[in-house]
Amino acid sequence: SRIEGFSAIPNVKWEDVGGLDLLRKEFEHYIVNPIKYREEFEEFGINLEQGFLLYLPTGCGKTLIAKAIASESGENFIHIRGSELLNKYVTVRTIFSHARTYSPCIIFFDELDALTTKRGEDGGWDVEQPLTQLLIELDRADKRQCVFVIGATRRPEVLGEAIKRQGRLGKHMYVPLPGPRERGLILKAIARNKPISEDVDLIAIGQEEAYENLSGADLAAVTNEAAMIALEEKRMSGEGSFEGKKWMINKTHFDRAVEKIA
Ligand code: ATP
Repeated sequence: SRIEGFSAIPNVKWEDVGGLDLLRKEFEHYIVNPIKYREEFEEFGINLEQGFLLYLPTGCGKTLIAKAIASESGENFIHIRGSELLNKYVTVRTIFSHARTYSPCIIFFDELDALTTKRGEDGGWDVEQPLTQLLIELDRADKRQCVFVIGATRRPEVLGEAIKRQGRLGKHMYVPLPGPRERGLILKAIARNKPISEDVDLIAIGQEEAYENLSGADLAAVTNEAAMIALEEKRMSGEGSFEGKKWMINKTHFDRAVEKIA
């Protein structure tokens, strides 16, 4: 069936995630540690919190952090967008049954608000509707089965109270656009495996005015553009090294990139 093979343990490390410290701590507390120290949690009779609602602006690392949690705790990861559930091939029921088979597992439901736009004919509850199915699955989820659900929306106000209740997606987390310091940390995470010249201070760059209001995705685009500009320069020069140094991404590359992207 279509559902086979759509879960896997992702390969995203905490180091790939910049900023989002609070979110990371919360998820370590509620998901990573309970999986790592499962027996102790059972010994203490702790009921696991398994439903989360993330409210972040677009491009700020929701998908990235959800993958990092799965990766760090060795859990399978299923990524579903609300709009995908409006077709008949993937149902909420099959997703949850797959997740239980491959537990521990994280189901990341992006664009949850898409589910609220389609109602039953009479406007009432229709058990075939994905939102209703989701409520049913969240309610029946055996607390020990280690199927964690992270929902994400940009419009929490349209979701309705039922799904946000305790025991369903009961833990709510809001993260604003990154501030000056977080932007630097995000740049560092993104540039981790790139040849960045030693005199580039990414923390300082993140505090520059040109970088105001940029999301993580924007910062990734700027870094990518800076790398392209650097590579172009290297190719034009026809050399692999410059004044005896390896050719690298420097501050002027970032300056030109941010002007282009932002
Ligand atoms: P959307 O709401 O549009 O689905 P999202 O919040 O899920 O976006 P991601 O897919 O996690 O955004 O991020 C997009 C890309 O932006 C990432 O692949 C990464 O390159 C970069 N990025 C965003 N936020 C961060 C961050 N906090 N640290 C490092 N990289 C980030």
